[in-house]
Amino acid sequence: RLELPEKVRQIIEQIQKHGFEAYAVGGCVRDSLLGRTPDDWDITTSAKPQEVKAIFPRTIDTGIEHGTVTVMMGKEGFEVTTYRIDGAYLDGRHPESVEFSSNLVEDLKRRDFTINAMAYNEQQGLVDVFEGIEDMQRKVIRCVGNPKERFGEDALRMMRAIRFSAQLGFEIEEETYRAVEELAPTLEKVSMERIQVELVKTLLSAHPDYVRFYQETGLFCDVLPQADVILSGKFKNPTLKLLTHAKNTSVLRYAALFYHAGPDTAKEALKRLKLDNYTVNTVSKLLLYTQKSIEENEPAVREATYTYGKEMMPLIFAHQHALLDTTEELVGIGMTTKRRHLETVERMYEDIIKRGDCISIKDLDITGNDLMEYGLTGTQIGKTLKDLLHIVLENPKLNEKETLVAMIEHLDL
Ligand code: ATP
Ligand code: MG
Repeated sequence: RLELPEKVRQIIEQIQKHGFEAYAVGGCVRDSLLGRTPDDWDITTSAKPQEVKAIFPRTIDTGIEHGTVTVMMGKEGFEVTTYRIDGAYLDGRHPESVEFSSNLVEDLKRRDFTINAMAYNEQQGLVDVFEGIEDMQRKVIRCVGNPKERFGEDALRMMRAIRFSAQLGFEIEEETYRAVEELAPTLEKVSMERIQVELVKTLLSAHPDYVRFYQETGLFCDVLPQADVILSGKFKNPTLKLLTHAKNTSVLRYAALFYHAGPDTAKEALKRLKLDNYTVNTVSKLLLYTQKSIEENEPAVREATYTYGKEMMPLIFAHQHALLDTTEELVGIGMTTKRRHLETVERMYEDIIKRGDCISIKDLDITGNDLMEYGLTGTQIGKTLKDLLHIVLENPKLNEKETLVAMIEHLDL
């Protein structure tokens, strides 16, 4: 017996009252059976989209041509999709056609993996026609039907197999795995956006080191050569270890994946993945700044905070800790001195932020306008502010207007 959320129970019941079948299906059934909290609850039904819309007062046409209607329950929406038979995915992306069906089993058959092909409602209980439960107990990811055919219909499923295996700690069943190896080159047909979604889910999973399977099966070969290279040579093991020590954010996990490739290659790879500018820039900056060490005194830490940016500092520290953890694990020796240095710098940074020390031109107790009043012009102003900032980074006590004004004439402009 599974515990359905009240709203899901109500939707299913309403549909049944109108003479149709309805079940919770897919990821939510899998996750509930595994004792994990589902992100969302999908419902599958024998009712056609127009019939679903007639039953509920508030619906949204989410993907009506694919049979999906979102049913609003208060502020929450639930996707209700008509039983469907998918045509072939000729382009490896979208089914050429979808055909509605009145048979639940047909709908389950089109789903990717046995553990994702189970349906549940309170009246019928669990509907599991492809041994999903057995595979769950065996901890395997197995295609519904013939793996080569299924990957031929939609090449993204190969990425998904590895992603689910990383999230759940399951192994990929042998025939399914061999089909991934064989059809890996066809991943090329899939858009980078969809590939990136699966990759980041893998990186953010409990087993980020399972990215190795993208390389080992050949999935990265043409699609992401930068990751293929880094995961195949002498950097493979250090990269996988670093991934397991990296904090669970996409920036830090991408930084771990491309650490040994360096900032430029990382940037190239992340752009190729069509990641947003923030991620591309932050990861490559992080890898660049990590190559420089910060001295263990407050002026140096303030200088670094100014140069790298306040928001980069915690990322640099987290990345450095992961690097030390990795070295400790690989070498088997405690990195005590380096760790103590890092922690000291970190503590200094925190004090600097807490005290509100001046760490940028806008924190100075003097402005460009003030300098104009003292007769400075154009480029002189910019240079003077910078010079004053470096003096103040050295000694924050000097950040007082009168003191700063008194210093202007001693500056070499
Ligand atoms: P999560 O939401 O945690 O990523 P999920 O299993 O819910 O995992 P979704 O992408 O939300 O995955 O898809 C919901 C369900 O739709 C899946 O469980 C599966 O049954 C089916 N499905 C999704 N994508 C595909 C696909 N490319 N091929 C076949 N079936 C799919
Ligand atoms: Mg889902």
